Amino acid sequence: MVSESANSARPVGGKMGALIQGLDWSATPLGAMESWPQSLRMIVDLMLGAAHPAYIVWGPEHISLYNDGYISILGTKHPAALGRPYAEVWPEIWDEFKPLIESTMAGEAQHFLNQPVPLKGRAGRPMSWFTYSWTPVRDDTGGVAGFYCSATETTEQVLAEESRLRLAVDIAELGTWSWDIASGEGEIDERGAEITGLPEGKISNFWETQLSLVHPDDRDHLQAALARGMQGGHSFNLDYRVLHPHGGVRHVAARARIVTDGAGKPSQLVGATRDATAEREAEASLRAARDESERWRQLYETVTATTPDLIYIFDRNYRFTYANQALLEMWGQTWDEAIGKGLLDLGYEPWHAEMHEREIDEVIATRRSIRGEVSFPHAVLGPRIYDYIFAPLVNANGEVEAIAGTTRDITELRELTRQKDEFIGIASHELKTPVTSIKAYAQLLHRQLSRAGESAPADLVAKMDAQLNRLTELIHDLLDVTKIEAGQIQFNDDAFDIDQLLDEVVAEIRPTVDGHHIIRQGRAIAPAWGDRERTGQVLTNLLTNAIKYSPHTEAVILHAASDGQEITIGVQDFGVGIAPEDQPRIFDRFYRAGGPERDTFPGLGLGLFISAEIVRRQRGRIWVESVPGEGSIFRFTIPAVGDDPVAGFGATTQAT
Ligand code: ADP
Repeated sequence: MVSESANSARPVGGKMGALIQGLDWSATPLGAMESWPQSLRMIVDLMLGAAHPAYIVWGPEHISLYNDGYISILGTKHPAALGRPYAEVWPEIWDEFKPLIESTMAGEAQHFLNQPVPLKGRAGRPMSWFTYSWTPVRDDTGGVAGFYCSATETTEQVLAEESRLRLAVDIAELGTWSWDIASGEGEIDERGAEITGLPEGKISNFWETQLSLVHPDDRDHLQAALARGMQGGHSFNLDYRVLHPHGGVRHVAARARIVTDGAGKPSQLVGATRDATAEREAEASLRAARDESERWRQLYETVTATTPDLIYIFDRNYRFTYANQALLEMWGQTWDEAIGKGLLDLGYEPWHAEMHEREIDEVIATRRSIRGEVSFPHAVLGPRIYDYIFAPLVNANGEVEAIAGTTRDITELRELTRQKDEFIGIASHELKTPVTSIKAYAQLLHRQLSRAGESAPADLVAKMDAQLNRLTELIHDLLDVTKIEAGQIQFNDDAFDIDQLLDEVVAEIRPTVDGHHIIRQGRAIAPAWGDRERTGQVLTNLLTNAIKYSPHTEAVILHAASDGQEITIGVQDFGVGIAPEDQPRIFDRFYRAGGPERDTFPGLGLGLFISAEIVRRQRGRIWVESVPGEGSIFRFTIPAVGDDPVAGFGATTQAT
């Protein structure tokens, strides 16, 4: 029962306590208060004392009672609602609530969380949300006669939550839509419309309209995804492309959720849609880039796997990060066993590992490739000779990131070269004896013919002798090369008068040339230190070349000078000259410069090679300066004896 408390400022039960007290209940189906069952009185008492909004439904007519907290929920329905049947108080929700009220009256307690209830009579609130519990209450007869409802309004929280959600949808740039499956009608917001190409707002054939915009290649798979999703349950993804009315292809990523009716049958789809165009295009270009690099990788892989050369990559810590098939085979290891290991781990001897590590350091420091040759035993093939190149792999910051290496087995090449040298040696040696004999016979014949006054045949024999001299020179050159290769060339070092040697060589050459003048400029004065004969050979080579390669000019200048330490000899012509790309190679064995006139000049490409070897052995240098079409000047140095620094570019002597 409602009781008064003497020391309370506010009547117990508040406003509603007073109203309930004051109402003439006998005019209601509940009858006068005194006749109420004990349990009803008790829960009314409980309700009026409660701090939360509470409501009581009592009797077969569902008569309503409520407390102060509930007044705001009733809005304009208060105070008329007191003592009225539930159906009259809440006609707007009666249909929906009736079955629930019935099951509560049948004894089943109910609990609802954040339930939307479209209550009327509340200003500016088309929808309200509540968390509420219905507890069945029995009367004195033991049957359920009504229920006690405690309710908490959660509209504020739900709306706040909803606006947070809307914000999230906004930030995520999501479009939202809903589609009523039975009627086929759907609705999409502005952003959703922009993404999917659909018109904003209500659309009568929602799904068909969307399908008509879908890229033809994606239609079947989209239909299938929808069917699968509807069977699968709660929510699912739909990814498809649309041919957008604004032009271009857009990628749409939608997340759909199934809403079911009371019978658990899907009635509606609601969803959020995202524009995934940029993302898909980025994925596609990434895929394309990956495919492209994979293609290149396969290409390189094929090349490196099939070459007999060894191809590998070291990191900066001398560890192998790549080794091709040939190298793995040489090691007798698998990729997994070998990769990541260093030279020592892979069985290289310490001197060998150490050497390569220093070379790697050098490549890192200089960012330049290095080339070397090394001989070591192959696991299967025995001792081999290898030619290798280490090249820097420089990253975008200009740092050496790794070192790429290639190694070629040149054992066979070396062997072939050796055989060729051996053959040249034997052949020229074998040629030398008969040519010497023929020359002796020719000289004998010449003497006899001259004596007999047979001048015409004697001249012919003299020409024969001159050709035999050329042949002898070629044979000597070939023999020299063989000796140089074998390291067998003999040097008789001594001090000699180089100016005198120059005079002699010039005098020797003079009878063999027509139309060229050899002009002498300067004198060395100081004696030279070296092999006189070999130095003469160098001079002869340079002078005959100068004459040979200047068919249209006459002058050849022979320079001599000394700085006291060394003597520099220069042979200058004004002939065909040498192209810059040939200049570094003309001192190589058998190298002959290219160009249209090459075959008009006889030669084996040995003279400069032999000259360079001789000069080098005498601790001198040899080099060329040349301009094609203008001429060349070859210079070499030879050590001077004594410390007499007399430069001799003064006098010019015409020697021929
Ligand atoms: P070769 O027997 O061919 O003359 P060399 O070793 O003496 O052989 O010279 C090598 C090459 O250098 C020649 O083939 C020629 O192309 C070039 N060469 C040498 N000397 C001259 C020069 N004075 N002028 C132009 N080219 C020259």
